[in-house]
Amino acid sequence: MTLPDLLDVVNRAGLVIDGHLDLAYNAGVGRDLTLPLDELRSREGPGARDIATVTFGALRAGRVAVCLGTLFAMPRTESSPHGYTDADGAHAQALAQLDQYRRWEDAGHVRLLRPGAEVAAHLRESARDPDATPLGVVLLMEGADPIRTPDELPFWVQQGVQIVGLSWRGTRYAGGTGVPGGLSAVGEELLDAMREQHVTLDASHLAEQSFWEALERQPDVIASHSNARARVPTDRHLTDDMLRAIGDGGGVVGTVLYNGFLHPGWARGEARTPPQTVAAMLDHLAEVAGWAHVGLGSDMDGGFGLREFPEGLNSAADLGRVADLVPADHRAGVRAGNWARWLTLDRP
Ligand SMILES: [Zn+2]
Repeated sequence: MTLPDLLDVVNRAGLVIDGHLDLAYNAGVGRDLTLPLDELRSREGPGARDIATVTFGALRAGRVAVCLGTLFAMPRTESSPHGYTDADGAHAQALAQLDQYRRWEDAGHVRLLRPGAEVAAHLRESARDPDATPLGVVLLMEGADPIRTPDELPFWVQQGVQIVGLSWRGTRYAGGTGVPGGLSAVGEELLDAMREQHVTLDASHLAEQSFWEALERQPDVIASHSNARARVPTDRHLTDDMLRAIGDGGGVVGTVLYNGFLHPGWARGEARTPPQTVAAMLDHLAEVAGWAHVGLGSDMDGGFGLREFPEGLNSAADLGRVADLVPADHRAGVRAGNWARWLTLDRP
């Protein structure tokens, strides 16, 4: 099947691809994603800090056929006293999450996919039989601290990890959100190994200086969940030059749907933002990077809940609606087509 034919099949079936979900991390903090969403919400009760929006059932109801699913190790911070403090601790967390994805796969909830032909075959099957096909998960490591040394990269590639973000906050490898700075020497070494082993760089959370240094070594880059700094001026987001570089390189930018990343200054407890804030962000990303390089990167289970998302986006079942906010010609691309094109590229 040619790429245009595949994209046509994906579009006709109304499939959705999300560039960023922290599924295994959520399981690790006690959320059972195999429950119906109503039941999960009632178990967590009205006092839950974040009202759950993501379960396998909600994703299926939303025709989400594929997502990038993270291996995300949480460092020790004031709000996460049990986080890792060294590379061994980060490594252990990521291994436990990998194991969680495998147990879900054994139970028929997900199917772990490598980018390329596996994703293409999975999309065709999902289009034929969306209710019986498990969620396709392409593993993404968010923050590279679990790679204890660059010579461990082949191990993770063998496990199916072909996309790695160096940072969350700062890591041993690079500056990150709230921690400006460039690559460390070992960060340079890891990027060289990534280029040699065809592992894509995820630029989300990467500090600006590190971003430009990284591109010199590994130009194969996406942003799984980032918005435009021109609209929300914090270092969590990408400057127009960075967005343009990702688009020029053929990558995709996943729009993150947290209210505070759509509307500057939005704070928890305030009214949800209107859908127009999403539309305006998508317009900006597309104006700079090109419509062919914009997709979803919802981060819907990344420490946020229903109240932290724009009006009308009440669960993963609503993710496809985001595409309705863009001009008609670009809806199919934003809903799934642009990620589908990138995820099905032939890789060495
Ligand atoms: Zn993140």
